[in-house]
Amino acid sequence: SMNGAIITLSGTFPGARCPWPGRNDAPATGGGKHMGGKVTKSNDQWRAELTPYCSGVSREKGTEAPFSGDYAESKTPGIYVCVCCGQELFSSQTKYDSGSGWPSFWQPLSPDSTATKVDASHGMRRTEVTCSRCDAHLGHVFDDGPAPTHLRYCINSVSLDLNPGPETDTEEG
Ligand code: FE
Repeated sequence: SMNGAIITLSGTFPGARCPWPGRNDAPATGGGKHMGGKVTKSNDQWRAELTPYCSGVSREKGTEAPFSGDYAESKTPGIYVCVCCGQELFSSQTKYDSGSGWPSFWQPLSPDSTATKVDASHGMRRTEVTCSRCDAHLGHVFDDGPAPTHLRYCINSVSLDLNPGPETDTEEG
């Protein structure tokens, strides 16, 4: 099983990215665009919609190799959404350079956009971060982040899709 393992990339990375099939599910109905109804699909359905690489991370809790993803060092303004269901998850305004090789944020877009649970795999005790809408595996959250939260949401690029936003968001903030 690739569960929890670092996934070795084969071929070029851009080809491995998901075409965000979740676009078909967005915008969510009821509760606004952040919090639509739960998205529940079988593993077979997810595998049919996602690339094997994306499915291996977002549905089977794999971890992309550090510095391999599109968003590790991106400073492009915008909103990061779930690659599986399109829910808005993180803002570029809370993204920072952790040096880890994975996109890092000090808080989710809203308190309800992500969920967490204890992950005791691989002899470690970590806190897994998931999409609250479709339960996609996003990454883990650690307590060594910057102020004001001192949290580090360490997220796989391949679990995210960036919707670029206005440049003014970060320049006038
Ligand atoms: Fe999702």
